[in-house]
Amino acid sequence: MTEFIYFDNSATTRVDPRVAEAIAPFFTEKYGNPSSIHRIGLVAHAELERCRESVANLINCAPREIIFMASGSEADNFALIQTARLLKSKGKHIITTSVEHKAILSTCEFLEGEGYSFTYLPVNSKGNVSVKSVKAAIRPDTILISVMFANNEVGTIMPIKEIAKLAKDNGILMHTDAVQAVGKIKIDVDELGVDMLTLSGHKIYAPKGIGVLFVKEELKSQLSPLIHGGGQESGFRAGTENMPYIAGLAKAAELIMADFDGEVAHIKGLRDRFEQKILENIPETYVNGNIDNRVCSISDITFKYIEAEAVIGYVPAVCCSLGSACTSGQDAASHVLTAMKVDPIDIRGTIRFSFGRFNTTEEVDRAVELLKVGVEKLRQMSPIYNKAF
Ligand SMILES: *Cc1c(COP(=O)(O)O)cnc(C)c1O
Repeated sequence: MTEFIYFDNSATTRVDPRVAEAIAPFFTEKYGNPSSIHRIGLVAHAELERCRESVANLINCAPREIIFMASGSEADNFALIQTARLLKSKGKHIITTSVEHKAILSTCEFLEGEGYSFTYLPVNSKGNVSVKSVKAAIRPDTILISVMFANNEVGTIMPIKEIAKLAKDNGILMHTDAVQAVGKIKIDVDELGVDMLTLSGHKIYAPKGIGVLFVKEELKSQLSPLIHGGGQESGFRAGTENMPYIAGLAKAAELIMADFDGEVAHIKGLRDRFEQKILENIPETYVNGNIDNRVCSISDITFKYIEAEAVIGYVPAVCCSLGSACTSGQDAASHVLTAMKVDPIDIRGTIRFSFGRFNTTEEVDRAVELLKVGVEKLRQMSPIYNKAF
């Protein structure tokens, strides 16, 4: 492959070589089934519980509150569907936001078909949901509130602790999709007061195909499984455990904990340098999201008067996303930017750049140069740009 600059870390990350190294022995040496009672099974079982502890440390919960799943999407599905089923005699109303990831929004759509009703909270121009609007949406039949911790398109951080307190005060369960927040914001589920939290391996330098749902002990004993079978994961998710990827996720969690502040400083440094240089060097550009309260990794930039797709085609060395990677390929404009009331024409010129552990200052500077040239060329060809100036 020709050289490229990877600024799409919110879509997925490269597996950390130290994670890959931690995974390898589980294929050919420690390949036992954690349910087997012989020596190699016992080794696998011990490793499984050690890994559970490492992931629990990342969000400060008890190891038994960690349920390993196949993805962040699965964890989101489980949180919503199983809570809805558990509490259907109490009520069928759920509160969420209009800017959630598709893993949440599509599950809501599914549950609407099952007779549940939803309030999709609006956001302001910075992508933020207000605690007041959550309060106003609460009804006697509200059973669950699910609000993402950090938005995957613009990075805006939601007031989860305040919303969780509201939920608790009203006897409502609280879930947060923290896939984009883990590793960028220190998370303590106890202090946050959430009942459930989703995280995903491939956004934090572990492989694709591993996720976690944290479920608070008291709730866990009441929920039923989504996949039935051999009783793995305390009966919640049958199927022999994916030990290699669980070990990879555990290693990824340990690496985050080993240098949390250093890594956040590194990523934020790159993001801020990139943004400053883009704004200085390319006129008619602006940043979307809550500039003062967003994750360190994301920069969502609108280049006015051009198509983002053309930029990506014209500057192929820089890997980045149109709005959200999860909706690319579909024609619909970003639901997040639309909810933030960004001008529909500007949405077409918006690109998400997301930075990670392996990026460097040199990459930032080179990318800015390439984008500057690309955007200038495209604007020279753009009829709307030429009409505006
Ligand atoms: C990536 C992502 C997911 C989905 O996680 P997968 O492991 O890819 O299923 C869910 N929510 C958010 C906010 C994400 O960014």
